[in-house]
Amino acid sequence: MPLPLKRPQKLSLLRRIPMPLMSIMIGLFCGLVVWGMLDQVQPRALRSIFAEEMKTRLDQQARETLIRFDNYVLAHTSTARLLANHRQLANYLEPVYWFKGDKDQPRQYRSTPPWLPGSTLWQSLIRPSHILLLDSDGRTREIYQLGDRPLPVELAGTNELPLSERRVQANLTSLGDRPYLLVSETAEDATGTEMGFLMLVAPIDEQFLAASQQGVSSNGVLVGILEADEQRFLASSDQSRLPPQRRLSEVEADFLVTAQSFSEYEGSTLNLQFATLVPHSVVEAIRDRVASLERRQRLVAAFTFVSVFTLVFFLLSERLNKILQRISRFSQRALGSKQPVIERGNQLFVLEDWIHQFIQLVKDTREEMRQQHESEMHESEMLKQAIMETALDSIITIDRQGVIIEFNPTAEQTFGHHRQEALGKVFADLIFNDESRPQFNRLMADVLSSRDRHPDEMRHELTAIKRGGGVFPVELAIKPIRLKNRLAFTIYMHDISNRRRIELEIRSLAKFASESPSPILRVNRRGVILYANNASDQLLSYWGCERAQTLPLYWRNRVTEILANGRDWQTQVIGATQVYSLLLTPVVDLGYVNIYGRDITAEREAERQAREHQQELIHVSRLSTMGEMATGLAHELNQPLSAIANYANGSVRRLQSSGRESEDILYALGQITAQADRAGEIIKRLRALVGKQTPVRRIADINDVVREVCSFVEFEARKAGVVIEQDFSISSLPVKIDVVQIEQVLLNLIRNALDALLEIPEDERNLVIQTRCQDGERVLLRVLDTGPGIQDKDMSRLFEPFYTTKESGMGMGLIISRTIIEDHNGTITAEQRAAGGTCFSIVLPSNRNRDEQ
Ligand code: ADP
Repeated sequence: MPLPLKRPQKLSLLRRIPMPLMSIMIGLFCGLVVWGMLDQVQPRALRSIFAEEMKTRLDQQARETLIRFDNYVLAHTSTARLLANHRQLANYLEPVYWFKGDKDQPRQYRSTPPWLPGSTLWQSLIRPSHILLLDSDGRTREIYQLGDRPLPVELAGTNELPLSERRVQANLTSLGDRPYLLVSETAEDATGTEMGFLMLVAPIDEQFLAASQQGVSSNGVLVGILEADEQRFLASSDQSRLPPQRRLSEVEADFLVTAQSFSEYEGSTLNLQFATLVPHSVVEAIRDRVASLERRQRLVAAFTFVSVFTLVFFLLSERLNKILQRISRFSQRALGSKQPVIERGNQLFVLEDWIHQFIQLVKDTREEMRQQHESEMHESEMLKQAIMETALDSIITIDRQGVIIEFNPTAEQTFGHHRQEALGKVFADLIFNDESRPQFNRLMADVLSSRDRHPDEMRHELTAIKRGGGVFPVELAIKPIRLKNRLAFTIYMHDISNRRRIELEIRSLAKFASESPSPILRVNRRGVILYANNASDQLLSYWGCERAQTLPLYWRNRVTEILANGRDWQTQVIGATQVYSLLLTPVVDLGYVNIYGRDITAEREAERQAREHQQELIHVSRLSTMGEMATGLAHELNQPLSAIANYANGSVRRLQSSGRESEDILYALGQITAQADRAGEIIKRLRALVGKQTPVRRIADINDVVREVCSFVEFEARKAGVVIEQDFSISSLPVKIDVVQIEQVLLNLIRNALDALLEIPEDERNLVIQTRCQDGERVLLRVLDTGPGIQDKDMSRLFEPFYTTKESGMGMGLIISRTIIEDHNGTITAEQRAAGGTCFSIVLPSNRNRDEQ
């Protein structure tokens, strides 16, 4: 049974969001949260990494600038060695001799001295400001000035150069508060005698420092010479940005300074350091670049995080959604719910609703079942009580010892004992007399010994007694009830005295039919006579069969037909002496046909006699009419008879005066024959009309009948000065009639009309006979006159017997006409014409087939 699941509650906004969409939102949220957390940690780590890196890079840069500086100095040293060992210097020094104590001024050159080779020597080096030749005491002997810069006084040759170690090749020193690089190399003459030194004097100024870093992108980085003790710069590679004598503390506002000691150059006692200065702006720019790069990376990372989270959530939820939808559909099918599965919205919530509802449903159903069970129990109890109370049978329950343990109200009424009285009594003693008690005890023994017998077999009829001693027959059935621990019996008892009486009545009723003086039969669908009472013997002999035999074939077929269409059928049977009217009535349900017969021999005889009387009356009426018409008929006959006499006389005369042509005689004889025939015809017709005949019906055209009648009354009409107008239908109007009788009716109507017309002036007399076909099934014949008509008060009496307004009238014409017409299943009526006069209408059934119309 499909469970009536309630519709899941309306989806809230959250529930309405489909799961994939929700997962996208969750994915976005999670991605953003993770990114937000990482974004907090990452920049700090990156900043420290950056600071570390920056420091390393600055150190490295400082080392590189120092190495480049060293290399530059080394290039000077090499140049100095090259010049000192050059053959040209040796050759020059060969003849030269410097005296100790000689106070001469050193020899000055402004152009290339003879001890130097060509100027191509300097190549990439900044030219030194001076190249000196010193003697072995350190006193300057020759000076070659390469620029405008004056030679520091310390080297002017007035004093011996305070070089403690002459062998020191490169020496950084401060001369006149300017830093200088002094590179010296031993100079020998051509003989290999050590003469002194060749010294390159190079001021370490802006050009020098810039040249030392040449070829490397400075990127705003400066190098400088720092006087470490005084914390001030002596020179820098860009004086405009870092003028000499600037203090380190001032410089540090703009630059990041890395100072390194010169390890290889010794000289003065000065504490000189090589400084690499990186502008803060460069660091900031780098930091900014790194920061923006790092931000970009973070963004990419965030995007990747969010995308990956979202995608993963989406795919998982999509899959989960489908699975949940399938589970929902499965649940719907399993629960047989007609409620459609909600495809949209969050399937998790939808499923949750399903589960909630299912659980609720199970609870409800369980509660409902419990209640139903309780109410069923209650109902069953009530029902049992009601059955016991309202049962038409006496229901008495007894235990195994036959003691009454239940006694219902019907039993109280039937036996006249109150329930309380009956309970605890022995059933057989209370209900049965000494005669029936042993019978009942036998029955009980039977019931105990034989189980599972058919209920009908356990019905027995006994005689019971009621309070007060009245005895009555009862039908009794015993039903053993096997309870858990004991055996009981329910006894159903029914007072059957009524039934007995009804049975007697039925038996008496059954005799009823047999006692009927009319035939009553019952036939089954095969035509076998199941029952026929005593009065049916004549019928049976007519059919030539006995009871329990089959009817003749014709009657068998009728029985089948009647049973098939379920309608009564009435017919007549004319036996040897008796006539029976038979009514065959189908009993469709049982497949029988009851035949009720009625002896109508006497009725038929009475009818026959009445008909004969009627014929007699009609005949008499006709005769009377004929009597009235006698004058006219005599006149009618007179004419042919006179003609015959005339022709006969003429013929005689002609025969007497012989010699006349026989042709004339033959003509006259012919006329005699014709007139005699005419007279004969008139008489024949009169005989036909007057003669007493048995009624014969034949098919005739009503127009022909009217024509015939008109010829009868021709004389009377002429006498009355009336021309009968014949207004006939074009087609023939066949009717099945007794022609003589219908002629009689017409004759009566026309003669009445002629009588009426006599009462008005001759020029107003008019008589029309109309024939028409009506609805194709009837023929209408009307006789219309312009006479004085019939007053309304007389209209109702018109068809009464002996009603007449004429002196010599009989007042039977119209009543006989109506009898004849009704005998032909037709009608005759009279009415007053609007323009004055009377109209008689006759309607007869037409005999024309529909096909012929
Ligand atoms: P009778 O002709 O012997 O009187 P009927 O039964 O034929 O008997 O007619 C009954 C009466 O009906 C007539 O006396 C007459 O008064 C009246 N009647 C019949 N036909 C006509 C007619 N065409 N016009 C006026 N009255 C008529």
